[in-house]
Amino acid sequence: MKIVIHGLLFDEVAAAVRELGAPAFRAKQLWHWLYVQRAAAWDAMKNLPADLRQKLAEKFELEAVRQLEITGVEGETRKILAGLRDGECVEEVLLPSGDRRTVCISSQVGCKFACAFCASGQAGFRRNLSAGEIVGEVLLAAAAWNDRPGNLVFMGVGEPLDNYDEVLRAIRILNHAEGLAIGARRMTLSTCGVIPGIQRLANEGLQIELSVSLHAPDDATRAQLMPVNRRYPLAEVLAVCRAYAEKTKRLITFEYTLVRGVNDSAAQAGELVRLLAPLPARVNLIPLSPVEGYAGEPSAPETARQFIRALERAGLNATLRDSQGSRLKAACGQLRIRHL
Ligand code: SAH
Repeated sequence: MKIVIHGLLFDEVAAAVRELGAPAFRAKQLWHWLYVQRAAAWDAMKNLPADLRQKLAEKFELEAVRQLEITGVEGETRKILAGLRDGECVEEVLLPSGDRRTVCISSQVGCKFACAFCASGQAGFRRNLSAGEIVGEVLLAAAAWNDRPGNLVFMGVGEPLDNYDEVLRAIRILNHAEGLAIGARRMTLSTCGVIPGIQRLANEGLQIELSVSLHAPDDATRAQLMPVNRRYPLAEVLAVCRAYAEKTKRLITFEYTLVRGVNDSAAQAGELVRLLAPLPARVNLIPLSPVEGYAGEPSAPETARQFIRALERAGLNATLRDSQGSRLKAACGQLRIRHL
């Protein structure tokens, strides 16, 4: 298979252009076609000489990710099923809000971590996405909007810190000032708490927003929902989060999916407050989106309101995410499962 052009960093594109015998300024033109014009065909790159376009087309793949399906209508939350060259597929979600365009992307085909209520883990793990495929997801979103997304969240299928190198490479490509130019502070990476990955990310010199899926304030409950807690227990996860916040000067967001009778009691709200007190933190409460194969139910709306009030009374910044996504089957992995 040809090399995916969108997986190359700017310097690598420059080296490839040089190798094909073209002068250095052609690399800038090509990069512009890839990320500013977002050309869908080599022949559209009008200011590149035909023989260079020909050589590029022989060596590189321009369309590693294709849209198989798109749900919803313009202006609302939409979901794209993205097909890959080997027949695998992942999903991404377009989240417009006023003038803001946020795209939620996947980092792996399937997931190894098997959180109890997450559809992504149910189908098992297939493979990592390459950087070019991750960038390709963002380009599909840009094509659907006919404009670049200004914000990016790694909250689709997969665990981004379990595919660290490709995810970081994609981040650097997406971040490039003369390309899509998505600012690091406008990228959120959501993790189930992979400690070595959080430590590495803290030292990249990037102010990526970190979001950590917590879902419970104690090890026993968390391990029941998230098997990863046996490997990376709460206290250790929170310690590296604190170091991350100090290093990057960013708040950490903690995701907390409310499950009726499992993690939504007043006592658990209190424990959560105590746990997060030493951190610059905000909490994002998520109503459970029902998935087949998990018997848990969403918390009653009144319970959810009491939970958030308890956090707010203690001075913790908390939001209750609406469940627009769940109507659309936007929760992690659900569209892909249906497709399979
Ligand atoms: N692997 C990463 C990112 C993917 S999931 C992580 O674990 O953070 C993004 C968020 O959606 C996570 O907080 C995840 O736990 C949550 N989630 C997954 N399935 C859900 C469901 N059925 N209902 C509510 N939240 C869900």
